[in-house]
Amino acid sequence: MTSITYGGNTYPLDKDQSVLDCLVGHGAPVPFSCRSGVCQTCLMRAVRGVPPEDSQRGLKDSLKLQNYFLACVCHPTNDLEAALPQEVVRSLPATVTALEPLNSEIMHVSLECHAPLEYRAGQFINLFREPTLGRSYSLASVPQHDEHLHLHVRRLPQGKVSGWIHEHLRIGQTVEIRGPSGDCFYVPGRPEQELVLIGTGSGLAPLYGILRDALQRGHSGPIRLFHGSRNRAGLYLTDRLRELAREYPNFDYVPCVSGEEPAPGLAAGRAHEIAFMEIPDFKDKRLFLCGHPEMVSAAKRRAFLAGAAMKDIYADPFNVNAAP
Ligand SMILES: Cc1cc2nc3c(=O)[nH]c(=O)nc-3n(C[C@H](O)[C@H](O)[C@H](O)COP(=O)(O)OP(=O)(O)OC[C@H]3O[C@@H](n4cnc5c(N)ncnc54)[C@H](O)[C@@H]3O)c2cc1C
Repeated sequence: MTSITYGGNTYPLDKDQSVLDCLVGHGAPVPFSCRSGVCQTCLMRAVRGVPPEDSQRGLKDSLKLQNYFLACVCHPTNDLEAALPQEVVRSLPATVTALEPLNSEIMHVSLECHAPLEYRAGQFINLFREPTLGRSYSLASVPQHDEHLHLHVRRLPQGKVSGWIHEHLRIGQTVEIRGPSGDCFYVPGRPEQELVLIGTGSGLAPLYGILRDALQRGHSGPIRLFHGSRNRAGLYLTDRLRELAREYPNFDYVPCVSGEEPAPGLAAGRAHEIAFMEIPDFKDKRLFLCGHPEMVSAAKRRAFLAGAAMKDIYADPFNVNAAP
């Protein structure tokens, strides 16, 4: 007989009983809705043991890789220990090792974790200024190649955390971080598939990580990066990205400016609009969208209408709290 461990208790599974039915039957607090593997409300993650393939049907590759599964259609053949997605993230201290401006509003922050942190380039962590005041920042570093975590933090006017990072954070200071979270990252496999990366502002952070991860893992299909800002001064890492484009013939970098006459070498217009003009058909393409929430949601809709499969669209809208 197999068993499921959740919240410190272990329950035996009856024959043909799903993990969800077992947990709910014992009064465990697990959210659910459709009970048929469609709505994904009962998404859980196996922290020990491997969930059966059937219980991962319809999930994104990046969730499958992290052993996520749907409890309502999960009939394990081995013992599992499971947790809800929000229960999996870890909290740990990290020390600032570098602070360098990338342009007038975006700061590169490098952090050394006090314990190993397993993450994928493009996921995000929460960084805390105080125990109850934290914000999400995406990981531009690639764990196999960068010793420390790298963030690109854009300063918002009166931003409680971004302003503090820009003005008060110092090299050598230790902060609390929590994570990693998110499923916006490169999953190895299908190396010939075309990847399209679209970002605005500091939305380049996860894309820079994803891009280097894919290149270093030998992705052979075309990789196109569209990075947009209102003006030339808002772009950053342009020299490094042009260098990568020279080094990897399958990588193409398109810096875009939408609010001024573009200098030579820059495209005129919004990043996602230029991407959709240049790539009219998104069938079989993998898409990564990061940055301004309106851009992310507009591009997601257009990509779907242009033939992209929802499971091939990875999106991280940088939602900012509205002013209290
Ligand atoms: C998954 C995820 C990943 C993220 N990754 C990154 C990242 O890699 N880099 C990064 O810089 N940010 C990222 N963010 C945003 C980040 O988490 C914070 O929301 C941001 O830094 C603002 O926090 P704050 O405390 O400085 O501002 P807050 O004190 O929360 O206040 C923000 C203030 O700015 C106003 N405001 C909102 N949008 C704008 C705008 N576009 N221009 C001017 N003012 C505005 C708001 O109304 C509010 O008054 C991410 C967000 C999410 C959800």
